[in-house]
Amino acid sequence: MAGSLDALLRPRSVAVIGASNRRKSLGGMVTERLFDFRFTGKIFPVNPRQEAIHSVKAWPSILDVPDPVDCAIVVVPRDAVPAAIDQCIEKGVGAVILITSGFRETGEEGRRLEEEVFAKLKAAGIRAIGPNCMGLLNTSPEVSLDATFTPVPALPGPIGFASQSGALGVVVLGISEERGIGFSQFVSLGNKADVTENDLLEAWEDDPEVPVITAYLESFADAPGFLRIARRVTRKKPVILVKAGRTEAGARAASSHTGALASADTGTDALCRQGGVLRVDTVEEMLDTAWFLAKAPLPAGPRVGILTNAGGPAILCADRLGELGLEIPTLGEATRKVLSDRLPPEAATGNPVDILPSATPEDFAACLAAMLEDPGIDAVISITVTPPLYPARDVLEAITPVARRAGKPVLPVFMVPAAARRELLAVEDAPALFRAPEDAAGALARAVAHARNAARPAEEPREFDRDDAEIAALLGRTLEDGGGYLPQEDVFRVLEIAGFPLAPWRVAGSREEVLAAAAEIEGPVVLKAVGPGIVHKSDLGGVALDLRDEAAVAAALDRMEEALDGAGIPREGRRWLVQAFRAGGREVILGAHRAPGYGPLVMCGLGGKYVEVFRDVQFAMADLTPSDAREMVRGIRGLALLTGTRGEEGVDLAPLEEGLERLAALVRAHREIAELDVNPLLLFPGGGAAVVDGRIRVAAD
Ligand code: ADP
Ligand code: MG
Repeated sequence: MAGSLDALLRPRSVAVIGASNRRKSLGGMVTERLFDFRFTGKIFPVNPRQEAIHSVKAWPSILDVPDPVDCAIVVVPRDAVPAAIDQCIEKGVGAVILITSGFRETGEEGRRLEEEVFAKLKAAGIRAIGPNCMGLLNTSPEVSLDATFTPVPALPGPIGFASQSGALGVVVLGISEERGIGFSQFVSLGNKADVTENDLLEAWEDDPEVPVITAYLESFADAPGFLRIARRVTRKKPVILVKAGRTEAGARAASSHTGALASADTGTDALCRQGGVLRVDTVEEMLDTAWFLAKAPLPAGPRVGILTNAGGPAILCADRLGELGLEIPTLGEATRKVLSDRLPPEAATGNPVDILPSATPEDFAACLAAMLEDPGIDAVISITVTPPLYPARDVLEAITPVARRAGKPVLPVFMVPAAARRELLAVEDAPALFRAPEDAAGALARAVAHARNAARPAEEPREFDRDDAEIAALLGRTLEDGGGYLPQEDVFRVLEIAGFPLAPWRVAGSREEVLAAAAEIEGPVVLKAVGPGIVHKSDLGGVALDLRDEAAVAAALDRMEEALDGAGIPREGRRWLVQAFRAGGREVILGAHRAPGYGPLVMCGLGGKYVEVFRDVQFAMADLTPSDAREMVRGIRGLALLTGTRGEEGVDLAPLEEGLERLAALVRAHREIAELDVNPLLLFPGGGAAVVDGRIRVAAD
């Protein structure tokens, strides 16, 4: 279903089907919130047994409502939902919020009912959120819609929040109210039968009332789609994600929770990295980061100043910043002079700047101003531990105007008792506040990452020019036989057509053919056994390297026959791969597999036979841009083994990056590839590369 979400997010009239005067019912709570929040449009309560609801005339059915209805909020019991939806369609409503639960999340019968209801809505072109959701709210003064049954009203503000868990949505709104953090829109996604997180990303992409997007998700409705949209959106505004289901146990809880399928974490990390999405572990981190990004300018770089009236917290802060890859440079001479002129001699003016417990609010303000003026500083974290001589609030009042004037972010941390913290909330226009220096460091690191993401040029995955029809035919042969591993020669043909540099190779069926092939190939050769039952060739004695003459090839062939017979490998279909021996390469692995819920993922890492031992590999979704490929390669921990260490000559990484892009294009175009391994791709000092081994397994998508 395409089309704008305006009828949902900014309706001019709403009907509540299942409205009630009873406080303790869902219908009652939703109606009460609608009225309490002072919706700017018209409200039509629908209830056949009531004449009025909250002093407003009630209608027996939505069909009796005389005006057009933009959005119908449905809270009737599950078995009454199909009839209510039929009436909504007949009425021609613009959108539906289906709060009622008892659908997909309860089992097969519920899933069928959900599909039935949403198929009808789709056919009628009506967008809907839910079912099994908490509703939505829009705090914009032009709309002022609270169509939820949350116990606490949300504070208006800049954050857009989409939540797959209604309950967690309520928790977040609760925390934020406690901390003075405001929301522009909140959408509880429920079972996501129609509107998904992808729709909201697009709806919020150009909405100036939603400068920061946050989401809590348990599964992606369409991960490749999310990536494509996020790539675009994160160049305009930050997207911050809490993704549950990180561990096996978490994934199981997630699937029993909203009927969502568990999804592997690798895919989520890859998606976030490639899409520029800021992934956080907790809703607290999500709120801290969102609030900070909404209020402060973006940092121009990673150089942080720390201002503090206590030593310990500043050290914790510096440690955390260091772990996160941010810098704490020594302040410039001019800045240090301003600071030392003002401060007692015991104060530290390097960075962190420790202005001692005796510091006054004016000291905080003056030192902060001086640090912000230092051209070597991109952001300042200011730490206030309960000052003995002044209320903490005075410090915040003194630094607020300084922070507002600066074009750089200021992150005030107040380590003070609860009562003092509440007082801080009363300071108008204050920057986003933090409770612990580590929290501020985390938020700042994410802002630096976002600034980098936002500056990325728009980039698309590269398509390669190659003969897809021939590849499809090669894959199709094995697929028609029920799928499984491709014969070795088909694997090599596919890789060759896809543009990989293969070491010269021949496949031979007989001794004569082996010797003839070896004679044709220039230089020393390699002999490998291929055929049914042979997967890991070396393990079976099926690889002989560096064979320099006919006698060596013949002897290797004899040994191999014997080894394979001894291992009980059938002779039927046994063949020989004769390949040019390419000495001196470093081994890397390239791979791809289909990850449920994410589509194909590609992988690269240090390869060869120790790949399982080192596990030094990087994953990405197959929607891979040239920069993604570059970043994957740069992410390999043992990269120095390739680029040269301890006097070894390095290898050219370009064939690895290009190989990744080719691989990604291949698995994007051929969904029948369930698994693909190129192991190893040999990279040579001084340039060049050769594929000497690969496997492909196909299965119906
Ligand atoms: P498998 O992985 O099935 O055991 P491979 O074909 O990958 O078999 O060979 C095992 C190892 O032998 C490779 O990882 C590589 O170190 C080496 N090797 C294989 N073919 C060549 C070749 N043509 N040139 C140089 N080394 C090779
Ligand atoms: Mg191999």
